Amino acid sequence: MAEFPTQARAVIIGGGIVGCSTAYHLAGLGWREVVLLERAKLTSGSTFHAAGLVGQLRSSANITQLLKYSVELYGRLEEETGQATGWKPNGGLRLACNAERMIEIERQATMAHSFGLEMDLLTPKQAQDLWPLMDIADLVGAAYLPTDGQVNPSDITQALAKGARSKGARIIEDCPVTAIHIKDGRVTGVVTAQGDIACEVVINCAGQWAREVGALAGVVVPLQSVQHQYLITEAIAGIEPGLPTLRDPDRLTYFKEDVGGLVMGGYERNPIPWAQDGIPEGFHFSLLDTDVDHFEPLMEQALARVPALAEAGVKEMINGPESFTPDGNFILGEAPEVGGFFVGAGFNAFGIAGGGGAGKALAEWVAGGEAPMDLWVVDIKRFAGLHGDQDFVCERTLELYGKHYTIAWPHEEHESGRPRRVSPLYERLKTQCACFGSKLGWERPNWFATDGTTPIDEYAMGRQNWFPAVGAEHRAARERVALFDASSFAKFTVSGRDAEAALGWICAGDIAKPTGGLTYTQMCNQRGGIECDLTVARIANDEFYIVTGTGFATHDYAWIERNIPDGLDARLADVTDDFAVFSLMGPRARDVLGAVCGDDISNDGFPFGRWRALAIGDAQVRALRITYVGELGWELHVPTAAALEVYDKLMAAGMRHGIANAGYRAIESLRLEKGYRAWGSDIGPDFTPLEAGMAWAVKLRQNTPFLGREALAAQKESPLTKRLACFTVDEPEVVLLGRETIYCDGERVGWLTSAGWGYTVEMNIGYGYVRNPDGVSSEYLESGAFELEVATRRVPCSLHRAALYDPKMTRVKA
Ligand SMILES: Cc1cc2nc3c(=O)[nH]c(=O)nc-3n(C[C@H](O)[C@H](O)[C@H](O)COP(=O)(O)OP(=O)(O)OC[C@H]3O[C@@H](n4cnc5c(N)ncnc54)[C@H](O)[C@@H]3O)c2cc1C
Repeated sequence: MAEFPTQARAVIIGGGIVGCSTAYHLAGLGWREVVLLERAKLTSGSTFHAAGLVGQLRSSANITQLLKYSVELYGRLEEETGQATGWKPNGGLRLACNAERMIEIERQATMAHSFGLEMDLLTPKQAQDLWPLMDIADLVGAAYLPTDGQVNPSDITQALAKGARSKGARIIEDCPVTAIHIKDGRVTGVVTAQGDIACEVVINCAGQWAREVGALAGVVVPLQSVQHQYLITEAIAGIEPGLPTLRDPDRLTYFKEDVGGLVMGGYERNPIPWAQDGIPEGFHFSLLDTDVDHFEPLMEQALARVPALAEAGVKEMINGPESFTPDGNFILGEAPEVGGFFVGAGFNAFGIAGGGGAGKALAEWVAGGEAPMDLWVVDIKRFAGLHGDQDFVCERTLELYGKHYTIAWPHEEHESGRPRRVSPLYERLKTQCACFGSKLGWERPNWFATDGTTPIDEYAMGRQNWFPAVGAEHRAARERVALFDASSFAKFTVSGRDAEAALGWICAGDIAKPTGGLTYTQMCNQRGGIECDLTVARIANDEFYIVTGTGFATHDYAWIERNIPDGLDARLADVTDDFAVFSLMGPRARDVLGAVCGDDISNDGFPFGRWRALAIGDAQVRALRITYVGELGWELHVPTAAALEVYDKLMAAGMRHGIANAGYRAIESLRLEKGYRAWGSDIGPDFTPLEAGMAWAVKLRQNTPFLGREALAAQKESPLTKRLACFTVDEPEVVLLGRETIYCDGERVGWLTSAGWGYTVEMNIGYGYVRNPDGVSSEYLESGAFELEVATRRVPCSLHRAALYDPKMTRVKA
């Protein structure tokens, strides 16, 4: 037997499907000294009792690509390793029992087409032809994804482990990791029951134990174990081996063929958490007691769908715990708290489907030092301090589990764990009928109910109840003046002798301006992709103030922190709670601001792209002359203690100018008309400023080095193969939500990254990248005949190269 290693390059903790896949791929990338440590035996966590359905479609293009890769990998692994996997590409059916669900699956089918997956709509009869034992009396329709499949979870994991070993990885069982060594904020090794191993990288793939393993390193891994049950029947006449998997979301259930019988499970609306006080010792190859009463409602639904179940003998009933997360997505990437500590966990009952692709992405992340593609939706840095509160995590996670199969309404908000973080205006805005949404724990006004209506979202597939109210807020900003409470913005300072040098390296835009300068800039990765999109104000020679989106607080902070070059005197601090932010926007904004401060705020006295300290009452307010809505206006950063006083003054002064409170849904409509990009949808790590039409914001003409410069300079020399464009649809009843497919001359060339209604232009607006390997020239864009696929229907659209709305001529210079 080989000696226990004392040194490794990477230590992977956990021998479930995710750990084994990560080892397989990391070794495949040529990494030597990859050691996987499993506390008990391989597969003994959640993997051994998974049902084995492998679906591919997710609402993110890149996560769908990862799942597509899993399918491709599982299809070849048996031949590659000689280990059986039980992989069967028998397709997947999804049913719709009402009109709204049908619209949802029509939109999903279009999303699948956008992401390059075949997905066909079927009539109830066609669905039944594929799944003869199902009752279709209540079916409205179905969708079929022919490349979905199923696998034997333990076998596929053993195949990955075998492949990993043959590529040089070492797998050690019965070896729990009990502590993690950290020095100067980086991992240096692990302590195990068999000895210590020094290493450069630790990868936490410990499934539902990942929270505890994370805690060993001071890393928050927000997940909650939840009981998940399914049963396995004896053989049923008419159940054939090639039967597609079946998801029946309106009946909360799923089915899979299993040795001539069926696996049937589901997602109850009232899930039961497990091990809130910690997972018991010795819980491996273990199951929980079955809870027949809890399963009964699902059984009733399943019997209505598959009457033959009534006669089938139950071979086994499984109650296995699985880790779920507060937003339903898994957790990947390098932890913000500790360098070299990576996480791949929280798989929300799709770890078998996700394991192949997630292991590959995680291995590439480790090896490359950056995420290999935009993985923001699963990035561990999407969480924040509040996710260290297990009560919050549990409550939100159970809400998400309970909604696993409910219709995902457009603009749907979470309900649990609220309110959590509030702006100083929260109570005031509540009394003014604000309807709040939540973002990273913050309550933010989405819209304001007027005329006696109730500030509650009523979800629908078409236009929702807030549509007219948001229209009124939009018009207030365009025609008069509106105040948006943007206090949840994340705010940082970078200070020190070398603050300019540090930010000069990280920012693609030129921030080296005199005090009072304001820069809208991107921060790019080595590929030139946009990691952060934010505003940098120069406060003093040695101090900068940075403002970024609410949801990006952890991510952007970590990006800046990691990229400050060694040896520079530049300190980063989070000052989010020090300032409330009011965006005062609209052609009358100057009148309102001028009435509450004595300073010269004329265009000459306070030009666009500058910031100044203004006195409003007793408060020293940082006023940033910038806009995200395309109107004259200021972002007012107000010391938190003075927030209410300043707000009241602005509202009082604004009365005669028709000031209105406005919310985030109006911002979305306004920014779509003006063509401002949103990070996380229109721009992100996969898109460069050149592709996004933002070359103007990049200092390529200056001879200064910055992160991502080489990639951008190289890209400038050849034709762009993707470019962001604006699309409008004339038919007002068409609802654009994003992810609709873009066609050029009948060929699929991309999908919408964001979309919505523009109240001024009175049109549906969408943004999306047009792709062409031979280059997307201006002629290509201008000569092509473009269409959008919306909920499987092709609709004509117009492509625009410039913003749809531009007030410059009449207003900004006023
Ligand atoms: C009932 C049920 C049905 C499911 N059905 C499906 C399905 O149909 N399709 C699908 O895609 N997914 C399904 N899943 C989900 C799937 O099982 C999981 O997402 C997946 O197995 C997670 O794999 P993992 O590698 O992350 O975790 P695990 O398999 O739990 O592996 C983690 C490993 O880490 C080890 N470990 C923990 N702590 C330590 C330590 N300190 N040191 C060393 N080792 C440690 C554990 O022993 C364990 O083996 C289902 C889950 C359940 C419960």
